Amino acid sequence: MSTCLLTEAERQSLLRFLQALVKTPSPSGQEDQVAALILEEMRRLGYDEVWMDRAGSVVGRIGPTSGPALMFNSHMDTVAVTDASSWIADPFDAVIRDGCLYGLGACDMKAGLAATVYGAAVAARRCSSLSGSILVACVGLEEPSEGTCTRLLFEEGQLSPAWVVIAEPSNLNVVRAQRGHVEMTLSVEGRSAHSSAPELGENAIYAAARLVFGLELLSGQLGDDHFMGSGVLTVTDIRSHAVSQNAIPDRCEMFLDRRLTVGETEAMALLEVQRVIAREAVRAEVRVIEQEVTTHTGQVLTARRVSLPWILDERHSLVQAMLKAAKAVGLRPSTTHWHFATEGAYTATVARVPTIGFGPGDPTLLHCCNERVELKQVYAAASAYAALVERLLGS
Ligand SMILES: [Zn+2]
Repeated sequence: MSTCLLTEAERQSLLRFLQALVKTPSPSGQEDQVAALILEEMRRLGYDEVWMDRAGSVVGRIGPTSGPALMFNSHMDTVAVTDASSWIADPFDAVIRDGCLYGLGACDMKAGLAATVYGAAVAARRCSSLSGSILVACVGLEEPSEGTCTRLLFEEGQLSPAWVVIAEPSNLNVVRAQRGHVEMTLSVEGRSAHSSAPELGENAIYAAARLVFGLELLSGQLGDDHFMGSGVLTVTDIRSHAVSQNAIPDRCEMFLDRRLTVGETEAMALLEVQRVIAREAVRAEVRVIEQEVTTHTGQVLTARRVSLPWILDERHSLVQAMLKAAKAVGLRPSTTHWHFATEGAYTATVARVPTIGFGPGDPTLLHCCNERVELKQVYAAASAYAALVERLLGS
């Protein structure tokens, strides 16, 4: 059995840190207090260097800067609490029941974050020397705009790791693929008229309805991949505008959520919708959503709501190294994929760094009431991260 297993003292210390993280609210854009806790913990654990960039992302480094770097990547933010009264306990109490820690962000993804902070420290204690550096990156604003803060770390902070591990929940399986994501608005134009004489106007709702049926048909004809599954297109919101309730609506706007599978691109996703518009001969325009987000340090960043799918071959050395590291600490991982978007969308497709996912927690519990994580998984994840460091950077 690997020497990377955590001692009882290390487990207790990791648990205290995780509970402190869960007890500290960190909705997107307000991660300052959690960031401060992470900085403090990394310093306490003896990281070689710890810093915060202008977007408020925290990075800790252990090991020499001369060799290849392995980055563990987590996000500090959580979604808002939904339906607090249905929880078994206050979502910020971080209570433990039946071996699970309950709380907002427990699974998504403060457990993974805490495990990477400890995994790196444990690896440093067990390895006599490292041939490169371990970078533990903790970013904000993942929930509203995945990839935005990691992009800054790479492009402004000039971090260029050789490998990235995203610590989002995977039930301790190795994730080697993730679907892409395009969010679009579809604006349909009509012409206003009094509703007593609709023939003088052009009803934007009727035009939009024709597009909705066209989009539903399109959603059954998208790309497919045997490992990642098919592309998805869903109309998730629709709003119309009329000068009054006795007027023909002159505008109707829809929100489209498109998930991309292997081989699908942003351009394809737009073109397919434009074809539906052309076929229905409707005056409409489709656009990818761009939004401004504000970091907890007050920086305003522009985020395009696009991420591309990525997939690593089963035989890739990083996939194999993570499988072996997990087995070395007693786990039985398989390879899988994520349906949801993560910071890997940036690291794998834009920065083109081999990226995998591996983290504690059940991915079906994200954004749910009674979000929780099994503590056994948290400790095992930290050990597996340490074992991965040993494999990739151990001398
Ligand atoms: Zn997450």
